[in-house]
Amino acid sequence: TLFPKLFDAWSDVGVCGRAYHNKLFDLNCWNPRDFSNCPKGSIDDKPYGGGPGMVMMAEPLKKTLDAIKQLHSDKKFKIIFFSPVGKKISQNLVEKILLSKEIKDYIFVCGRYEGVDQRFIDNYVHEILSLGDFVLSGGEYAAMALMDAIIRRIPGSLGNEESSVYDSFMDGFLQYPQYTRPETFDSTKVPDVLLSGHHEKIKLWRRKKALELTCNLRPDLVENAISKKKLSNYELSILKEINFNKN
Ligand code: SAH
Repeated sequence: TLFPKLFDAWSDVGVCGRAYHNKLFDLNCWNPRDFSNCPKGSIDDKPYGGGPGMVMMAEPLKKTLDAIKQLHSDKKFKIIFFSPVGKKISQNLVEKILLSKEIKDYIFVCGRYEGVDQRFIDNYVHEILSLGDFVLSGGEYAAMALMDAIIRRIPGSLGNEESSVYDSFMDGFLQYPQYTRPETFDSTKVPDVLLSGHHEKIKLWRRKKALELTCNLRPDLVENAISKKKLSNYELSILKEINFNKN
């Protein structure tokens, strides 16, 4: 990253800050500007063929990689570049990264300006990932988002009361709606079942709400679950009740 400072606050606050201070992960920022060929420390140049903006040069990036690999010669890194042309980051991908036995160390290459010389990408990058179909001014935001999603799933990084297993996407669906005090807000009362103290009923209600929400907002997720036969009889009965797919 050309902007290591961006990661200072990120690794100091909230869940990631706590995990960082508890040494659940380690983060080192390397600045390609320190590996520039020219005395002024430039790392970008005009694009061949013309056009607007500047392009990050391959050489300082390659030298940065070499320096990282030299210092950590015992590690096997996967090199990820962030770009809008990459594969979209998803919870599935996050879980795969967490489960990987082989790769525990990553080098995240954060582009800036108009992007990075394609030869660096072709020769050194293992995977290209995107945060979504929009254009950011730097890959740092994608790196932070991906790291955050990974870190909050590392056992011990969330407090006791927080848990990521009930989050959206963890079981393929969106999460059920949540409520907290006061019991009545803007004349709307919290659903009675949540005050009943009846755990089994609450569980079923939440399942139903999660399914309803997913049917309304992300029918693609429900269709995917149906086609993969991932739904229980209770869930199928709810779909029937709300007439999913019959409209
Ligand atoms: N000219 C490029 C965009 C450059 S934006 C294009 O049109 O594809 C500058 C940098 O921000 C990129 O090199 C990339 O590292 C990062 N970036 C921008 N949008 C991104 C996204 N959706 N996901 C991940 N990284 C992104």
